[in-house]
Amino acid sequence: MSVTATLLDLIPASLSATMVGPHYSWLGRLPSEISEHITMDPTAILDASTDFGRLSQAHPAAVLLPTSINDIANLIRHSYQSQHPFPVSAKGHAHSTHGQAQAQDGVVIEMMSLKGFYNFGCCSDAEGSWYVDVGGGQLWIEVLHETIKVGLSPMSWTDYLYLTVGGTLSNGGISGQSFIHGPQISNVLEMDIVTGKGEVLTCSSMHNSDLFFAVLGGLGQFGIITRARIALEKAPDMVRWVRMLYSNFYEFTKDQEYLISLNGKEGFNYLEGFVKMADENGGGDGIGSRNWKLPPFAFPEKAGAKSTTLYCLEVCKYCDSSSQDHVDEDVERLISELHYMPGMLAMKDVSYVDFLNRVHQDELELRSKGLWNVPHPWLCVFVPRSSIMEFHDVVFKGILSQKKTPGPIIIYPMNKNKWDEKMSAAVPAEDVFYSVSLLRSAAHDWEVHEEQNMEILSACEKRKMGLKAYLPHYKEEREWKEHFGERWDTLLDRKLKFDPTGILATGQKIFRFPLVSSNSPHQTALK
Ligand code: FAD
Repeated sequence: MSVTATLLDLIPASLSATMVGPHYSWLGRLPSEISEHITMDPTAILDASTDFGRLSQAHPAAVLLPTSINDIANLIRHSYQSQHPFPVSAKGHAHSTHGQAQAQDGVVIEMMSLKGFYNFGCCSDAEGSWYVDVGGGQLWIEVLHETIKVGLSPMSWTDYLYLTVGGTLSNGGISGQSFIHGPQISNVLEMDIVTGKGEVLTCSSMHNSDLFFAVLGGLGQFGIITRARIALEKAPDMVRWVRMLYSNFYEFTKDQEYLISLNGKEGFNYLEGFVKMADENGGGDGIGSRNWKLPPFAFPEKAGAKSTTLYCLEVCKYCDSSSQDHVDEDVERLISELHYMPGMLAMKDVSYVDFLNRVHQDELELRSKGLWNVPHPWLCVFVPRSSIMEFHDVVFKGILSQKKTPGPIIIYPMNKNKWDEKMSAAVPAEDVFYSVSLLRSAAHDWEVHEEQNMEILSACEKRKMGLKAYLPHYKEEREWKEHFGERWDTLLDRKLKFDPTGILATGQKIFRFPLVSSNSPHQTALK
């Protein structure tokens, strides 16, 4: 039975009866300053019970629609101080794939209902560096639209912009700019956080720094991000967008690694790559026009040979009026060093905003075909540089050749020195590592793809390839310990300090709820 069917089956009027049963008697005891912002409307509950992945559901008792930071702080403080604490999860745009923003039997905070709470003033500091203050529930597309009005822009993005600031900062936030600027979490100057005790704290790398670094890439475990101060730079006007095809994976990765060793001035400003598996049902453009994220570039027909697995290197050079004159020369110089198949290069110029918002076009197309709201058994991993050839042989040439991935495969390297080790995000030990994402859409047989994901992970583990999951989802504490490695103890210390009862983001399934700790005010009651 599909997840969609399961959800619809669960929705009837009986849902409200379940919710207000004795099980949720604590809801009736909430003080009015909290209860007036709470809803138990079945549609809101359903909305908070599922996510983009459509692979798991967890029903909260209620949903908080905050209109101020205090509404969030009051709710969390109430749970923290209660003899019967309840889970609280911030929900951004629910674009997680495995229930990470859910809160079984607890309260989900709809962060997007705080929209407009911050008014996006772009400012400069004493050294003249630009920044913008944005709400944790704001979408990155909104941040782009506002900052571009004054000719400024964040430096580091995600491929898709209909994600919230709080959601991506809880993970990392990566895209083709990460090799130069680091992930989005490396571009945050300050944040306001509501901790798991209900305190409202401002933090930065200098002030409350433990909280600051804990929250960045912290999977929502230490506090709710209500404001983030994001570093800005002058926005370019145009983007020279270039794609090159390779049939040789080794040369493809060597060229990617060479390009990320250059800095932004002499090199490209953006770099990603894709894999087009052999026999994929490609379009006339030869690179699979049905493949999300691969809009039809005009490659010669022969590139579409069905028997060959192809690798597409995607790079961009930004330009504005001052650099327009030499963009041809700059791009020419850079690509003259590369080893793509002769003639297999295509390029076009697009506006900066259209480039950043490119995936939205695919979203609209998929929505129009009913292919957006389907299960998404995604697999996203970081692969150390030393394992990428073996990963290619085992996964692309081996496991995936048995059953194709319905959706794009994205692969590109990043520089580890752009990730501050004090942040919570877990990355491989090597200086260069690849982000590999199998972005599967599976209307029918999602279980088969989930099983294949497990097969991939277990094959890589057996060969000790040193992978780290990105957007991780585990069920066992042992797996989380392995994921965080030597950072586990720090993670635990920070958890006990900022969320000692384990109220926050229980959908990540890292800690047992409720936590019994000496920092918890009701430890004896919980034992
Ligand atoms: P949610 O799914 O709502 O929440 C994710 C987690 O963060 C949950 O644990 C939640 O409790 C917590 N959280 C949410 N808001 C807050 C807050 N304000 N404070 C504290 N915790 C909070 N990721 C990339 O890095 N790069 C990409 O290019 C990229 N592309 C994507 C494209 C698509 C189509 C999709 C669906 C996802 C993509 N992602 C990408 C993954 C995405 O960054 C994560 O799934 C992210 O969590 C989604 O943000 P959200 O606002 O939907 O968060």
